[in-house]
Amino acid sequence: MESLSAFLAQSYQLSQSSLTPMEGYDSTNFRVQTNGQRYVLKLYGQTPLLLSLLEAENEVLRILNASMPGSFPIPSADIAGNSFPSFENQHARLLSFLEGTFLAEVDHTPALFRHFGEFLARMNQALLDLRHPAIEARRHHWDLSHALLNADLTTHIPDPSKRKWADYFFLQFREQVSPQIQSLRHAVIHADANDWNLLTSGDQVTGLIDFGDMVYAPLVNELAIAMAYALFGKSEPLTWAAFLVEGYQAVLPLTEKELGLLYYLVGARLAVSVSRSAYTHSQKPDSEYITISEQPAWDLMEKWVAINPEAARRAFKQAAGFPPEPVYDPQPDLERRHQFISKALSVSFHTPIQMSGAAFQYMFDSTGNTYLDAYNNIPHVGHCHPHVVAAGQRQMAQLNTNTRYLYDLLPSYAERLLNTFPKSLNRIFFVNSGSAASDLAIRLAMTHTQRQHLQVMEHGYHGHTRLGIDISSYKFEGKGGAGQREYIFKAPIPDAYKGKHAGKTDAGKRFAQDAIQLLNDEFPIAAFISEPVVGCGGQVPLAPGYLTAMYSAIRERGGLCISDEVQAGFGRLGEWFWGFEMHEVVPDIVVMGKPMGNGHPMAAVVTTEAVAQSFENGMEFFSSFGGNPVSCAIGMAVLDVMETEGLQQHAYEIGEYLKARICDLQGRYETIGDVRGSGLFLGAELVIDRESKTPATALAKYIKNRMKEHFILVGTDGPADNVLKIKPPLSFDRTNADQFVDVLEGSLKGV
Ligand code: PMP
Repeated sequence: MESLSAFLAQSYQLSQSSLTPMEGYDSTNFRVQTNGQRYVLKLYGQTPLLLSLLEAENEVLRILNASMPGSFPIPSADIAGNSFPSFENQHARLLSFLEGTFLAEVDHTPALFRHFGEFLARMNQALLDLRHPAIEARRHHWDLSHALLNADLTTHIPDPSKRKWADYFFLQFREQVSPQIQSLRHAVIHADANDWNLLTSGDQVTGLIDFGDMVYAPLVNELAIAMAYALFGKSEPLTWAAFLVEGYQAVLPLTEKELGLLYYLVGARLAVSVSRSAYTHSQKPDSEYITISEQPAWDLMEKWVAINPEAARRAFKQAAGFPPEPVYDPQPDLERRHQFISKALSVSFHTPIQMSGAAFQYMFDSTGNTYLDAYNNIPHVGHCHPHVVAAGQRQMAQLNTNTRYLYDLLPSYAERLLNTFPKSLNRIFFVNSGSAASDLAIRLAMTHTQRQHLQVMEHGYHGHTRLGIDISSYKFEGKGGAGQREYIFKAPIPDAYKGKHAGKTDAGKRFAQDAIQLLNDEFPIAAFISEPVVGCGGQVPLAPGYLTAMYSAIRERGGLCISDEVQAGFGRLGEWFWGFEMHEVVPDIVVMGKPMGNGHPMAAVVTTEAVAQSFENGMEFFSSFGGNPVSCAIGMAVLDVMETEGLQQHAYEIGEYLKARICDLQGRYETIGDVRGSGLFLGAELVIDRESKTPATALAKYIKNRMKEHFILVGTDGPADNVLKIKPPLSFDRTNADQFVDVLEGSLKGV
């Protein structure tokens, strides 16, 4: 310090100075107090290009101080006229000290935010015509245009359930921003107007310091970076963001394109911030300065993920004074759809939703609404999960072909998936839909046993192929169904809530006895197929003991046992990865699909070596798309995410919590007859009254539509369509569970 004081006296004629260390990122900073004057002294290590950048910075400060006097530090040269005299092998630099209170330290008001926007715009405007080679040559990790330089750093984020958000925003940057970035209006910008660089006084932003991140970049990056910090701690971030836009727009109008990218730029800045914090933390575990914004950045990112990008675009456009979008009318879209698409395909909800995007457990409609998806078990690890998307994109760009060639992904994925099964289940066939898988499973069973008769589950559903309909009581007994075919035996559903043996301790066994009695030895059975929890039939877990009794009886008669895990499989049940484990049986054939590719169409049949061998009868099995390298890469990525994010355990914990909360509602609402299921595969059966258990079909329909109006997606199913089906993407969290139950209760109250 003493030598620094001497240096200040000698070089700047500042005598009797006292120095206080200040925070600094890429320089060592001191506050200098002399008689009546305050300064900031910065010392920089000697790095290449430093001087040219510092000179550029002084040029920027000269321009800014001329147009907005008093708002920016003023550089002083030493008595010899050097702007950056040397001090002990470092470059020194003296700046005037700006008075004011940091934005991070004051209460925020809409007026302050509008002024903040205005301030940035005035600053940007003053620099619009500046071109500087040192600035333009610059490329650094904090430059939002180069956000992707940081994309690999997410590996340093310890919590994988948070890491996915950062990966998601890097992915969105790549998809939405990168293709447009060159065509955006560029200028020299400050690029770090964060809440600890901005000075305020009352409702005014009075100054900005620290030009160390200055770059030549898209103009809109300035506002995006400022926003990313200004929105910390805000419960309604879009409202506050709109104040900034309003202020900015009044001075320097942004284009629709720039406003449309702001959402993604803010997300990317948050991703950069948390990734760099995590990286720094991994390098210097004690550094506090750099991680100061880490927690609020995570909190904001969690909120930002749930914001529909279209809502942001509209809010920013509105704040900028653009006319509002016309109100969406689904009617023309419905008509257009029906011009080409059969009415045999249904559309959900009274007023259909036009979807435009999704992120994890959230879905976005085209008008800006965010829906909490409690309904969709296909995007198993979360909609648009970045790890899965990246795996598909990468492999699609490299090779996609069919199983007639050798490629490592096929056996590698097969091996990995088969590792989740008991040892006896060690052969796999890949197809592209649950229907194709159940169809193939039946063919395998028929070929192996050389028999034709099948026993299926009442209300079961297995697929839409001809064979699929034959084995799906849900369809052949439902509307438009042609009834039960002659080669089918139907087992009564072992429903422990309202079936014939409900309430008996050995209900499962009794239901199995009833089913077996229906078989006829004149028509030897090839296979029995059932889901472990009957999904379309109303989320009915098979009564305990049922499958053990069934499997042994079927096997005694020479038949095979097939478990359809299309809905329940892949860890959704929480305690078990596969539904048959819940019933303590090992099937001969397992059918899987839906969650397998997180929405990419893939399905499979797993079986024993013996059954697979029977199929090797000379006829080739070939599925054009089944097991292709892209599907294998995606399937592998889904398993990666299941593991790294611990999603099976998560399904267990959140499922238990959600179920307990719905059970609590059941205690207060007579119309909730039964709450059942495991993990994040739950059902709530609605009844007119508990005594009669009469299905409350109209109520279920009302609740489903009512919850949709409150932006929660839930389905109804079961033979009387009176069971609420709850099977969200596994990223569904505790807060979502609370939100779900609160809205459900609100809907029940309103009846
Ligand atoms: N099995 C079950 C249990 C299902 O729920 C479904 C689809 N709802 C299928 C098979 C058929 O799958 P996909 O729609 O992929 O053909």
